[in-house]
Amino acid sequence: MKKAVAHLIPFIEAASDGKRESKGKLVVATVKGDVHDIGKNIVGVVLGCNGYDVVDLGVMVPADKILKAAKEEGADIIGLSGLITPSLDEMVHVAREMQRVGMKLPLLIGGATTSRLHTAVKVDPQYDGPVVHVLDASRSVGVVSNLMSKTTREGFLTETCEDFKRIRLKHQGGAEAHKLLPLSEARANAPKFRYSPPAPKQPGTHVFDDYPLAELVDYIDWTPFFQAWELAGRYPKIFDDKTVGEHARTLFNDAQRLLSEIIEKKLLRARGVVGIWPANRAGDDIEIFSDDARDNVAATVHTLRQQIKRAGGKPNLALADFIAPRGTPDWLGGFCVTAGIGVDELVAKYQKDHDDYNAIMVKALADRLAEAFAERMHQRVRTEFWGYAADESLSNEELIAEKYQGIRPAPGYPACPDHTEKGTLFELLEATANTGVSLTEHFAMHPTAAVSGLYFSHPEAQYFGVGKLALDQLEDYAQRKGMTTEQAERWLSPNLGYEPAPVQSV
Ligand code: SAH
Repeated sequence: MKKAVAHLIPFIEAASDGKRESKGKLVVATVKGDVHDIGKNIVGVVLGCNGYDVVDLGVMVPADKILKAAKEEGADIIGLSGLITPSLDEMVHVAREMQRVGMKLPLLIGGATTSRLHTAVKVDPQYDGPVVHVLDASRSVGVVSNLMSKTTREGFLTETCEDFKRIRLKHQGGAEAHKLLPLSEARANAPKFRYSPPAPKQPGTHVFDDYPLAELVDYIDWTPFFQAWELAGRYPKIFDDKTVGEHARTLFNDAQRLLSEIIEKKLLRARGVVGIWPANRAGDDIEIFSDDARDNVAATVHTLRQQIKRAGGKPNLALADFIAPRGTPDWLGGFCVTAGIGVDELVAKYQKDHDDYNAIMVKALADRLAEAFAERMHQRVRTEFWGYAADESLSNEELIAEKYQGIRPAPGYPACPDHTEKGTLFELLEATANTGVSLTEHFAMHPTAAVSGLYFSHPEAQYFGVGKLALDQLEDYAQRKGMTTEQAERWLSPNLGYEPAPVQSV
């Protein structure tokens, strides 16, 4: 569609004296520190095809640049996108800046970690202009047309405003209900495991400079591929779905074609590094040693403990619980993998050709290959490098369902919500030198088709959510990390079970 429109525009303009009716103009951007843009790009295409002008500022865009572009372009609406949790605060910052300079334009908030709750509680109160949360690309046209319409705008905004007020009221009630245990009590309720950790067969780091993509294809989990395109349903049942089945099939066939071409012509390169190091638990932290004698601490991984009162005698977990304390030799693993080397060049090639469909498809496929690479590396770590599950034999469905021993939690996810821990992991792995993956100032990985995390071998290791945290843990954690409490509160803002002291504007 976009290709066809690009082809037709000169003719349309010639026929209408160079004037083309636009239904409205949006300036959209992925906020500073974030690099994820599949959702934003889909929104751009959908709005473009519906007659709106979309000025896409790209990724990692600071607030001042967004505001400036909105003014210069004479935009009617600003749209912000982001995926990682630090982007939530960045969006609040943009709203504050819009207020400071006296803007009145509607502000749209979208992206995977954003929510109506966050928009209502954190963003909306910062800005007197209209703020709307856009759940996904398919809703964007409705929202934008409501905002641009003289007849429906007022009603739509009143409704949104009232909805936000209701959410805030409910949230206030809920916030008081967070009864958190004092940190000492949560720690006293840590699980006590008896376990002899298996020694790795090949400790240290292993680097893969150009991993064969063909080997990764069988490890792809296709369900999230359809989610990326906003088609709901599990693979392969999605093909039978009455509403989206046919679209899913077409999309899948196109994906297979491009995937074959990528592999044949080596259009993308997969690079990765895994490491397994001597480690022991020290309180809620994990110390990593540079020597087998465990005399020298090379790095410390900091973990957070659940403070919610757990029902039914359940323990209050921290990832450190899955590592043995000093006295019992144990190991911690880490990894960083990417299948995104070459994505930017490919995307640029398609964009030059106005082929947004394949530009998005490349990114979605690179993401799938990166996740498949993470799955394959984890399997090789269990069966070869660490080797504690040498006899494991699982189908891809069983791998996706995590039927194996051990976990690979990723910093920024619920068991370890602090993105800054990625910094320590990257240093241990020398990940940037070994894989070409770098971290933004908000610890997003670039290229986006990258996965990193820790490996725990413990048979009872499981994913969990750290949940809401109290000030005592924030203070303790900040001290362990060598941060101020305010800094720790900023990185962990979605997890605070209390209202932090107001910070001076940065
Ligand atoms: N098959 C999926 C894999 C990604 S989702 C795909 O192809 O997209 C599962 C991964 O998310 C896990 O391997 C782990 O790295 C991370 N994860 C899930 N829940 C988590 C939690 N509670 N804490 C930390 N990491 C988690």
